[in-house]
Amino acid sequence: SKSDITRIEAYLWEIPKSFSPKMRVPARILASETLLDNIMEDRSLVQLVNVASLPGIQGASLVMPDVHEGYGFPIGGVAATVYPEGAISPGGIGYDINCGVRLLTSQQKITDIRDRLESLSKELYAQIPSGMGKGGQIKLSLQEIDEVLHNGAEWAVQKGYGVNDDLAFMESNGRLHNADASMVSEMAKKRGADQLGTIGSGNHFVEVDYVEEVFDETIAKSYGLSKNQVVVLIHTGSRGLGHQVATDYIRQIMAAMPTYDIEVPDRELACVPFNSQEGQNYFKAMGAAANYAWCNREIISWEVRRAWKNIFGPTIEPLKLMYDVAHNIAKIEEHSIEGKRIKVIVHRKGATRAFGPGFGELPEKYRNVGQPVIIPGSMGTCSYVLAGTDKSMQLTFGSCCHGAGRRLSRTAAKKQVNAPVLKEQLKEKGIFVEAGSFKGIAEEAPIAYKDVNRVVETVSDSGIAKKVVKLRPVAVVKG
Ligand code: 5GP
Ligand code: MN
Ligand code: MN
Repeated sequence: SKSDITRIEAYLWEIPKSFSPKMRVPARILASETLLDNIMEDRSLVQLVNVASLPGIQGASLVMPDVHEGYGFPIGGVAATVYPEGAISPGGIGYDINCGVRLLTSQQKITDIRDRLESLSKELYAQIPSGMGKGGQIKLSLQEIDEVLHNGAEWAVQKGYGVNDDLAFMESNGRLHNADASMVSEMAKKRGADQLGTIGSGNHFVEVDYVEEVFDETIAKSYGLSKNQVVVLIHTGSRGLGHQVATDYIRQIMAAMPTYDIEVPDRELACVPFNSQEGQNYFKAMGAAANYAWCNREIISWEVRRAWKNIFGPTIEPLKLMYDVAHNIAKIEEHSIEGKRIKVIVHRKGATRAFGPGFGELPEKYRNVGQPVIIPGSMGTCSYVLAGTDKSMQLTFGSCCHGAGRRLSRTAAKKQVNAPVLKEQLKEKGIFVEAGSFKGIAEEAPIAYKDVNRVVETVSDSGIAKKVVKLRPVAVVKG
């Protein structure tokens, strides 16, 4: 209950270690008071407290204001465990390994393309395969899948489906070197064989937006963003391949747990020491699935670029990649904890990396202003670009929220929303939605999500990220 929670800063709350004998560190919540009340409506905080019992966890278990309950770990959570013997847990990364978002920028203004939006949305829908389990045009041999799993977005560039200049603007340059395709099951590879260049179902999308408001001119300029500029947001992950990797390793790790004498309060928190055989195998397979996801987003960008040319002509200025961030991933990073630099395994599940100025592998162009943090809101409201800060490095292991966060379950949303009416209402607002099914539209209705403005205010007022621009949707392709 709320009496167990202490306010330690305006937007930071803590459940102390004394709350439960199982906790190894305190649990912390980044939220305004109103959002905290929302968060207490589901099992998110129970899950947050459970995460605080993970072997080797450092600092605090954390949730962002967009948090909601997930498999074992809450979605919108960050947990850092000590390297190399701390826990690694597939549930702390999620089933859609390296689900993430990227933003492409154009040289066009919204006023240049208003009258083309309907045909643009139809063309994007035609070029980008969407829907659950849906395959694309590229059919990979087993040999080629292994190449994708090792090389990530580079594979797309080598095969002519990508742009070399994009690579510098992706988290980890679109390739994790811990990947090992031999740790990925045949079944997972089969599921991934024809899904490159596809977005998948429901929550995933390709969306055309324009910059409605600029909050920080200097950072916006570094990111190549300006008022009224047309941009494209792409949200998807590793498709069936990543899902199968998660399924395979959750099973293996659950079976291996007794060997390591690990007890966790919820079996969905199944974990093993990072440096155990099972932990290493999972980390290599996770890296491979992450690479598949980066390659996937690069190929989807190629499809978007093709649609762009088909609508605006072959001489239109090409779309550039502003940045690509993962929000379901584990990374080995160095952070300061109580004044000491230590190496940790950072699990981000529904949380975006948000490195401050000067930290890590940021592209040269962004090094002085901090990492771009891309926060989608919903197809009917708005989205944001923020920048990572020094404070995120101190407070959240260099992490921030990943969206507005779900407020209604899919079933509840379907009950409340009349999809054909919603589609018409959005069209009246100037937003053209294309989706494979009305069911998808209902589940993804703006009311299914929290108010992104509130969530973003919380992270910016708390200082873990700085608002750069606000985006308004105009055309959406939903999975
Ligand atoms: P998740 O990765 O948890 O599925 O989704 C991340 C976030 O994307 C959600 O929390 C939600 O705020 C946002 N989102 C979902 N659908 C859409 C959409 O169609 N457009 C935009 N801009 N954001 C969306
Ligand atoms: Mn996602
Ligand atoms: Mn996803």
